[in-house]
Amino acid sequence: MNEPLPAPKFDNDSQVYVTWSENTIEKYDTCLLSSLPEVFKIQLCTTRPQESVSLYKCLESFLKEEPLGPEDMDCPSCKKPRQARKKLDLWRIPEILAVHLKRSSCSQFVRNKLETYVDFPIDDFDLSTNISQKKSQFSNHYVLYATSIHHGGMGCGHYNAFSDVSGVHSIYAFSFISIGQETADRAIPQRDTCMRTHLDRLGNRKWYKFVDNRVSPVSEDAVKTSAACVLFCRRVA
Ligand SMILES: [Zn+2]
Repeated sequence: MNEPLPAPKFDNDSQVYVTWSENTIEKYDTCLLSSLPEVFKIQLCTTRPQESVSLYKCLESFLKEEPLGPEDMDCPSCKKPRQARKKLDLWRIPEILAVHLKRSSCSQFVRNKLETYVDFPIDDFDLSTNISQKKSQFSNHYVLYATSIHHGGMGCGHYNAFSDVSGVHSIYAFSFISIGQETADRAIPQRDTCMRTHLDRLGNRKWYKFVDNRVSPVSEDAVKTSAACVLFCRRVA
């Protein structure tokens, strides 16, 4: 089982079969493996991906119980390694909620950027079913007011942002340029009172795109892009 296998030339789809000893199967609770979410599909060409997943599905996966490795934890009583499970819960959620979509996939040899389109709600992100503390005095409803988006790959790329500036009192244009492994953070606050006055007249829900020192109006549809990596949401009553 531990001997390396000769790797054939892959002309077609290949399948890998693994034989586990009875002992190993006993250690793992294998029924849990079937319920693990699929987080990465290898794609040979990086065209615009067609696959999509809803933000609610992502959250469901994030909060799902998952098995740890059979020897990752020692039993507190007998101190022997035992199969354990990990579970995260949302207990209380803040006024401003930042959802960071993990867009990287790391294996032993490769790091890949995940380009999956995440379908997120703009006007009503409802966390009522995901929150553990059911009797909170606060609302579990959020509206999206900004996103940070990233174009490029794992090694380098360019950040810019979308924001609905109807609910804020100053406008900031910013640029984060990542070069290699290092991120040079060049935040340039640019308060633009003329534009502020203009926006006041326009009323609610006007989306703008911020690219370096350029700001341009966009439709709400444009905000929903597979490049979104951080979603900024504000609690609403
Ligand atoms: Zn024990």
